[in-house]
Amino acid sequence: MCGIVGYVGGKKAAPILIDGLIRLEYRGYDSSGIATIDEKLNEIALVKEKGKIKQLVDKLKVRECKGSIGIGHTRWATHGAPSSINAHPHLDESKRFAVVHNGIFENFQEIRSELISEGYVFLSETDTECAVHLIRKYYRNSLKDAVERAASKLKGSFVILAMSLE
Ligand code: GLU
Repeated sequence: MCGIVGYVGGKKAAPILIDGLIRLEYRGYDSSGIATIDEKLNEIALVKEKGKIKQLVDKLKVRECKGSIGIGHTRWATHGAPSSINAHPHLDESKRFAVVHNGIFENFQEIRSELISEGYVFLSETDTECAVHLIRKYYRNSLKDAVERAASKLKGSFVILAMSLE
């Protein structure tokens, strides 16, 4: 169980994401994080931290997340210890795709092994990270299609939010 939040609009995303995460903190509080699309730099800005949202807010005072599109997550760990590396959002190696996830991917071990044999590099111990690598693998020119294809490969009850620079 966790809290996930997303924002697309005309305002600065980070404060809205943080406000959403504070409201959802009761759903998971071992770590939290946000990722936004920094349109000026054309990159995904990522800040995540172990502990309560207060710790994330403190980190955001020194590392800003700019942009008006973003996703956020407050985690209740199921796969992988509570840590800043295992905190969501998770990015692919190109840092062009980001994912947050609520739930469990029951077949993550099988998918992880398959992706590793294809050369994908995992940084965390989470089941979640499979999703972002699958999305990258399936991406052609539609994020929606890539997410649908990734979701159809993953088993279990889950929700994911994904965003991309593409
Ligand atoms: N299974 C994921 C993890 O352990 C998501 C857990 C959650 O729903 O917070 O990171």
